[in-house]
Amino acid sequence: MNDRLQRYRDKRTGRSGEPGGAKARGSRSGKPRFVIQKHAARRLHYDFRLEVDGTLRSWAVPKGPSTDPREKRLAIEVEDHPLDYADFEGRIGRGNYGAGTVIVWDRGTYENLDDERDMAASIDAGHVKFRLEGEKLRGGWTLQRTGGGEKPQWLLIKRRDEDADARRNPESTQPESVKSGRTIEEVAAETEGGE
Ligand code: MN
Repeated sequence: MNDRLQRYRDKRTGRSGEPGGAKARGSRSGKPRFVIQKHAARRLHYDFRLEVDGTLRSWAVPKGPSTDPREKRLAIEVEDHPLDYADFEGRIGRGNYGAGTVIVWDRGTYENLDDERDMAASIDAGHVKFRLEGEKLRGGWTLQRTGGGEKPQWLLIKRRDEDADARRNPESTQPESVKSGRTIEEVAAETEGGE
């Protein structure tokens, strides 16, 4: 069990249906996975997660990713989540850590674009380059750290390549889950009263 997950387990109470972080499993292709979960908590945000060394390194992106390279999106580094959390969609009950509704907004695999450093070293260094192969997001992306502290601030930026598109706005034109086809509003309505 990865010690980096301890903060996640410390925060959750274990009664709200989301994974507890007991098991770890990689993608079928052998490539590391990424997932972006849209999370209607106190504030709506997107949780951007990269599989690194058996855990999901995680950033909360208030506005979600942009396919426009000129749009630098704030990404706040948050605690790791267990790999089995990547498929979680549903409601985290009131009073629990992260209470609110979650959908799997995009998922797939990624490739480290840094020839010199592995992903953990790149994150430590505050500069991460990777290529996403998701259902909605593809191509090169950069995460650049801009500030430290307990919850370091980063910028998530689309790299300039054939997958860059200033007019696509996938967060508004493709709001639905890639797991269930449902919007976060539909999932919230279906799970209402299920606490
Ligand atoms: Mn979240």
